[in-house]
Amino acid sequence: MRAAILSELNKLEQQQQLRTLKDIQTSAAGNEVVINGAKVTAFSSNDYLGLSRHPLVINAACEAAKAFGTGSTASRHISGNHSLYDQLENMIAGYKATERSVVFSSGYLANLGALATLSALKVNFHIDKLCHASIIDGCKLSGAEFFRFRHNDLEHLKDNLKKHDNGRRNAIITESLFSMDGDLAPIEDMRQIAKDTGSILIVDCAHSTGVFPVVAGSSDIEVGTLSKSLGSLGGFIASTNEFTDLLISKSRTLIYTTALPPAALASAIAALTIIQNGEKMQAKLSTNVKLVRQLLTANDFDIIGHPQSPIIPILLGDSSKAVELSNRLLKMGIFIPAIRPPSVPPGKARLRLTVNALHYEAQINEMVSKLKKARR
Ligand code: PMP
Repeated sequence: MRAAILSELNKLEQQQQLRTLKDIQTSAAGNEVVINGAKVTAFSSNDYLGLSRHPLVINAACEAAKAFGTGSTASRHISGNHSLYDQLENMIAGYKATERSVVFSSGYLANLGALATLSALKVNFHIDKLCHASIIDGCKLSGAEFFRFRHNDLEHLKDNLKKHDNGRRNAIITESLFSMDGDLAPIEDMRQIAKDTGSILIVDCAHSTGVFPVVAGSSDIEVGTLSKSLGSLGGFIASTNEFTDLLISKSRTLIYTTALPPAALASAIAALTIIQNGEKMQAKLSTNVKLVRQLLTANDFDIIGHPQSPIIPILLGDSSKAVELSNRLLKMGIFIPAIRPPSVPPGKARLRLTVNALHYEAQINEMVSKLKKARR
């Protein structure tokens, strides 16, 4: 067995796909972190509004841990269903303008739960080729038939719906803001296709929640996470009363895992309250996104994504190029992770730069100037 494992590791190394974990110490200031002992500025976080560092959010987590303990002690159906769940689920449903919502222990588990539950209702899936691993895994594990359409290619989606019509209901699945390309799905057009073909539309809003405005009624089922702009941990499915009831009764990824700790629920409630109360963090994020995109474009970096997307991929192509550039930058005090296949298609390796509301102008200028030096 040992030889087989070593041979697999060897293969991964040769394919530039060996992954190792970095030792990271975060700080309350947000983007200044210590990686493998060196102090760096990180452009890698999905906490786009910086709310995981917000005093009110931190305080809510501390108070909940003090009042209710650190762990939830059991699954939601046993003794882990703290009353904070009800409060958070009502808030999410209100924010997303859906009848109900149900919280899972992660976004990954929420996707698996949604797709397995639908598959039992004999639904086929049509997913965008760039959908996140949790959607692909959800399709595979559900045992449903699933088909992939080219990224944001609505003609291909329509062809697939026609070609694979076997009398079953179809679900069209996409992300609102794509995690690796930073572009948006044409949700309105997809909504129309769903209507025309009697399909349901499922949108994973993991990265857009808190960043882009909510469009009420734009999908039938919205899957999301508490771990990005909500600065916490957990996932959710926002949909109808009846689908929520079915998930609570049937979803194995809700039933057979431990409930979230009260601190995670309380911090998500505090973060959502801040998002719903004001625009300050969004405005700062938007200023930062504009500045980074403008500086990178002016310096001829090959960036992609929506102009307002805080996910700013710098395309490099070759895995070794991306890894080398990321390593060189790390030595210069800047952390921007390299993303390689299988997280992105072959030949599309990149640096995945993310900007958030806590970056300040001097950090952004320094990052761009070091990127210029490191690429030489
Ligand atoms: N969907 C998308 C699009 C994601 O990017 C992620 C996480 N990166 C998830 C779902 C899973 O969410 P979580 O991290 O809460 O498991």
